[in-house]
Amino acid sequence: MTNTNLADLVRNVPDFPLPGIQFKDITTLLRNGPAFRQVIQALADRYADRKLDAIVGVESRGFIFSAPLAFQLGVGLVPVRKPGKLPADTYQVEYALEYGTNKLEIHRDAFQPGARVLVVDDLLATGGTIVAATQLIEQAGGVVEELAFVIELSFLNGREKLGKYAVHALIQY
Ligand code: AMP
Repeated sequence: MTNTNLADLVRNVPDFPLPGIQFKDITTLLRNGPAFRQVIQALADRYADRKLDAIVGVESRGFIFSAPLAFQLGVGLVPVRKPGKLPADTYQVEYALEYGTNKLEIHRDAFQPGARVLVVDDLLATGGTIVAATQLIEQAGGVVEELAFVIELSFLNGREKLGKYAVHALIQY
């Protein structure tokens, strides 16, 4: 398989969903089969020997990458979801967005105590979403091994908020 420059396949959509936002559209990457496989394989190669116990995917675009990665590694998948979606007992966190707040949930029994967890999301912007996910994972008894993103908007300095965690991104802007 020839290696594609993945960044070339991410479409920049100016002023979506609001004026001034440069939206990174991953659908142009996903529709390219070899490129989608390249993303999953690159992550699978990186994490194959980490002895992971679980992969956490963050709703909703995080699911697109976390599920095939978990499948490829033979590791279980744990969803972090928007409120009201998970049917059993949950932990919930509320976090600030640019406009208003958001909530995320995880099942209380998602992990064995001390489980080594990789968190996967499509994109790191300010880091608010992923900080909320790490709080949920730790409440549920998991240990965050690393945070993996397909895209990082490094000019937003999300990494600073994630200081105590290892962060990996395949594409950086
Ligand atoms: P944040 O909490 O600021 O790190 O933002 C996290 C989520 O918002 C990501 O998982 C993306 O799905 C979405 N997001 C934020 N900014 C962008 C952007 N410029 N392009 C595409 N998605 C974005």
